[in-house]
Amino acid sequence: MDLELKGKKALVTGGTRGVGRGIVLALARAGVDVVTCYQNDSEYVASLERELKETGGNHHVLRADLSDAAQISALLERTGEIFGGRIDLLVNNAGTISHIPYAELSVEEWTRVLTTNVTAAHLVIQHALPLLGEGSSVVSIGSKAVEAGIPLRSHYTATKAALVGLSRSLAKEFGPQQIRFNVVALGVIETENFHKMPQEQRELMAQRYGAKTALGRLGTPDEVAGAVMWLASDLARYVTGNTIGVDGGIS
Ligand code: NDP
Repeated sequence: MDLELKGKKALVTGGTRGVGRGIVLALARAGVDVVTCYQNDSEYVASLERELKETGGNHHVLRADLSDAAQISALLERTGEIFGGRIDLLVNNAGTISHIPYAELSVEEWTRVLTTNVTAAHLVIQHALPLLGEGSSVVSIGSKAVEAGIPLRSHYTATKAALVGLSRSLAKEFGPQQIRFNVVALGVIETENFHKMPQEQRELMAQRYGAKTALGRLGTPDEVAGAVMWLASDLARYVTGNTIGVDGGIS
């Protein structure tokens, strides 16, 4: 299906691995020019650059640690230069998580997770404002955990809830300019981290979360990309301030 995304310009944060990589590659295949960023050098950077080269288009994989405000500012400045001062789609995907009993959660760890998951998303959007215009779409990657709650991940869940409030308010503030803000709330998605687990743990996780899911299986980054591409397209031009679940019907 042609969503008429060809020639659009997108910034996707955290695109070297996992969900972000799936989004970047799907957009590039649809003819979107993509800038993405990462924090740590790894083999994923070179392999993504190779794959993007094969799709054709104007793509850039840049190093920018989003926990550093100065690096966010530099990333957005560079993105503006690359795309001639406009972004049609911004995807706040980069995120971090840890599993810690609430009673032992240090303020340092609380702050680390908040900085990457919320403060960075806020600063990326704020620095992107001059590049966003009528019809632009901002998508933040949230989590179904906000509704369900998960033990040991109170700090992470709080950050994903914050993204919902941020998006809803920005939808109202920038609605008159026809800039849309939505959250895509994920269930359990198979990424490299999942595939790196020992087989037994992987099977247990697939079984446990598969059983909680209406479709009886985990999701894929490509399936998340489908929702993001729809939100980037003109088909979703009246959709804003929403949270769209891509979770296989998990409960
Ligand atoms: P991964 O850990 O697999 O990938 C995270 C990506 O973000 C990597 O490219 C990483 O770069 C980048 N990143 C992380 N921190 C920073 C930073 N400070 N600066 C720049 N880049 C950074 O995550 P997932 O793909 O699993 O998750 C992606 C998003 O989806 C997250 O927001 C997550 O909370 C959300 N989500 C995921 C679910 C899942 O089941 N996978 C479920 C619900 C929500 P690097 O390689 O350099 O570390």
